[in-house]
Amino acid sequence: MDSFENLFKPMQIGQLRVANRIMMAAIGTNYSTPEGEVTERLVDFFRARARGETGLIVTEGAYVTQSGKECSCQLGIHKDELLPGLKELADKVHADGAKIFIQLFHAGRQTVSAVTGLDVLAPSPIPCQAVQEMPRQIAKDEIPQLIDAFGRAARRAQKAGFDGVELLVGHGHLINQFLSPYSNKREDEYGGSLENRMRFALEVLACVREAVGRDYPISCRISAEEYVEGGLEMEESIAFARRLVDEGIELLHVSGATYESGPMMVPPMLLPQNIFAEKARELKKALAGRVPVAVAGRIKDPRRAEDLIKEGKTDLVALGRALLADPEFPRKAREGRISEIRKCIGCNQGCMDRLLMQKDITCLGNPLCGRESEYGYEIEEAAAKKKVLVIGGGPGGMEAARTASLRGHEVLLYEREKQLGGKMLPAAVPPGKAEVGDLRVFLIEQLTKLPVKVVTGHEVDLHTVEKFAPDAVILAAGSKPLFPKIPGIEQENVAHADDILSGEKQLGLGERVLVVGGGLVGCEIANFAAEQGKNVYLLEMLAEIGADIGFFYKILLMTRMQERGVELHPETTLKEIKGNTVIAEHRGEDKEFENISTVVIAAGYEPDRGLLASLAEKYEVFSIGDCKEVRKMLEAIHEGFECSFRL
Ligand code: SF4
Repeated sequence: MDSFENLFKPMQIGQLRVANRIMMAAIGTNYSTPEGEVTERLVDFFRARARGETGLIVTEGAYVTQSGKECSCQLGIHKDELLPGLKELADKVHADGAKIFIQLFHAGRQTVSAVTGLDVLAPSPIPCQAVQEMPRQIAKDEIPQLIDAFGRAARRAQKAGFDGVELLVGHGHLINQFLSPYSNKREDEYGGSLENRMRFALEVLACVREAVGRDYPISCRISAEEYVEGGLEMEESIAFARRLVDEGIELLHVSGATYESGPMMVPPMLLPQNIFAEKARELKKALAGRVPVAVAGRIKDPRRAEDLIKEGKTDLVALGRALLADPEFPRKAREGRISEIRKCIGCNQGCMDRLLMQKDITCLGNPLCGRESEYGYEIEEAAAKKKVLVIGGGPGGMEAARTASLRGHEVLLYEREKQLGGKMLPAAVPPGKAEVGDLRVFLIEQLTKLPVKVVTGHEVDLHTVEKFAPDAVILAAGSKPLFPKIPGIEQENVAHADDILSGEKQLGLGERVLVVGGGLVGCEIANFAAEQGKNVYLLEMLAEIGADIGFFYKILLMTRMQERGVELHPETTLKEIKGNTVIAEHRGEDKEFENISTVVIAAGYEPDRGLLASLAEKYEVFSIGDCKEVRKMLEAIHEGFECSFRL
């Protein structure tokens, strides 16, 4: 059994003793009220992570003044009226055994006036390229009020019983904007030299320190590098970190990037795990043990987390999405139940993609995330036991079977293919997508541990159903590929993207591949073909390529396709395939693509409801996932869970 002797060593942060080295990194939830009040949902969300043995929780960024608010239902700490809710949050997390810091936050130019109801503020009138609202330059006489807002917020945090505060100094928010030569072009004493650019941060820190006294822990979360041209780099970050320590912080929390270098900030699975570990190592070395260092950035494997500490790269590991995917990550690791950890796959579908749309977050793989108030911390047995037949062993079907079994029902799962996984199998094949397989493996292992009877390679018919005599049938049969009805679609050189990814068909020896459909599947197969050295043409009917792809992943995927020379043809509709020539239409005019060796179809799917009508006459049938309506894996898994939870 793995020992994790470093991960579970207690940690001293100033005067505060934390039970282990696992810290929850701040992550926006949108679970508060529009006025910034703590809700039961927010409390229960953090309680689940405390119960899972996270040593130190850092809340999402709480705005210190209205102009600093970023999300419509963000946590606030900008007025005394919020104190009772904040106190309840701190008390309940303490009762569940964790320490808790609140992060003090001001968005600066990384927000919009539609959220704050006020001018967007920044050190200089330069809009953030990701947000694109022109900010108003903060007048010099406004600076003391902003600094004071941090101090007053810190005093509230202390009064509410939080164990410490974290200043958000990175990720392109207000304090970072002052610090950065990229966003700060001021000509007064707050701009220009590093000394001047640090001034705002150091004055905020001094004000917070004065508000909370000498022994109260203060953490600073920094972006070691901004990853924008002309932005902050390591040399200045090291100098800044030393000053923060000189001025009395107790913890340096290392992250990276800003909204403009978005994919680095919340790295999708295309980017490496433990992405900021080397930055943390450099900073830790520069600080020579004067304060502990924590590092964030796609840490999802407890063994690797242990190694990061053992190798001296960090003192604590800051987990964000990993704790959304599994709030019990720490406890399971401590007990050696590694395969039971539901790993974050870096898809961003349930968390960042939703947050960027001003929605509440959840997790693709963990339907309980953010719904602990509604469903409890874990699944409880149902009062009446039923016989449940699940048809389809894709993500939705596996989750439905898992949940139904945990509810104590007798579960039989049929999958027509030889392997479980459905669309998870092809989805894990494109470059950088292998981690989708982690979730598939997790679900299969869960089914193996539970008394679920699984039959693969069997097409269910009415006779099979009658033999089992179920009380409920969950139809999770997925979807079927759609092929455009055009001349030539039956040709030998035409294949569906799923068949290529599953290895059933090959791209062939020819050099030129044409992909039809520029959604997620089309872009991924185009990138996959280009990676194999093919010349790739991508046709999309709509004006936008990748309209259904999450923001950060889309940036990366589009960049990769561009680097690999994929030729994009938006507003272009397939008309005919004649041998190796493809004819398409672009704005009323025909276009010919010659010498195409393989045409790959990625033009969407339609629900596979073959059995529905006949089953519905005799049984209670619940359709979930794609067979209800074609959508993404998140909907399939969540519907599988919800359906079984209510049985
Ligand atoms: Fe990780 Fe995806 Fe869950 Fe977000 S939604 S926590 S990225 S698995």
